[in-house]
Amino acid sequence: MRPKIAIVTGASSGIGEATARALSQAGYHVILGARRVDRLQKLALEISGEGYVLDVSDSDSVQNFLDRLPERIDLLVNNAGGALGLDPVVSADEEKWVEMFQSNVMGTLRMTKGVFPLLERSGDGSHVINIGSIAAWETYLGGAGYTAAKHALRAITETMRLEWLGLPVRVTEIDPGLVDTEFSIVRFSGDETRARKVYEGMTPLSARDIAEAVVWAALRPPHVNIDQILIRPRDQARADKVSRASS
Ligand code: NAP
Repeated sequence: MRPKIAIVTGASSGIGEATARALSQAGYHVILGARRVDRLQKLALEISGEGYVLDVSDSDSVQNFLDRLPERIDLLVNNAGGALGLDPVVSADEEKWVEMFQSNVMGTLRMTKGVFPLLERSGDGSHVINIGSIAAWETYLGGAGYTAAKHALRAITETMRLEWLGLPVRVTEIDPGLVDTEFSIVRFSGDETRARKVYEGMTPLSARDIAEAVVWAALRPPHVNIDQILIRPRDQARADKVSRASS
């Protein structure tokens, strides 16, 4: 039997990297995509996968990535994305908003459109897993650009579920709360001190915690569709409600 093949976008760090490792351990051949190709190739070598440059914000880059794919794919994990800044709506940086919508929303659309025929060809049990966020369900001060993008992603996931009813392709959204990755460093433009404060005095989720949920959802029997999983650290009850030992 041929090994199952998975694509993970944004596999150069954090949740994507952990997901690629976990899928490989579960027996998948994993194809990795991200912009930092040096990191991808190192990981690809480690897990005997393949890594190709991919900027999901750019249609040509997506097409070049799609051109390298085999004719069947079993699983697409749309993970590439993130937040930029924490600015109030009235002083929002439009470029950051466009970039957030490009990676989190349009990137998912481009990848799903491109990979869907290969998933359908794989038949029973093939699967798209979108990495959303609790920002798909909640809002918080300064978070409008990111929460709007993740709310949009949730609307898209729910629509895929409706549109694919009767087809062999499953769709799941996994919505994490605080996960300790490079997410906050990226959000705060490389300011590591500010990023560290996000997780101060509390225990965040690890990227591995989310990767395990991805693998669990993917390995359900083909007739089972896990629609949505919302996972928070025990120390976080809402996006802006966090228990900190020091406070
Ligand atoms: P991370 O460590 O910063 O990883 C983000 C990944 O996305 C990187 O591999 C990055 O790779 C990739 N990426 C970003 N823009 C891209 C683009 N245009 N094209 C291709 N790849 C792109 O953060 P993370 O926490 O693992 O984030 C992964 C996903 O989880 C994101 O969708 C994020 O919104 C979501 N999430 C994170 C948290 C959290 O607290 N950490 C919570 C909820 C949801 P390159 O820079 O190399 O391209």
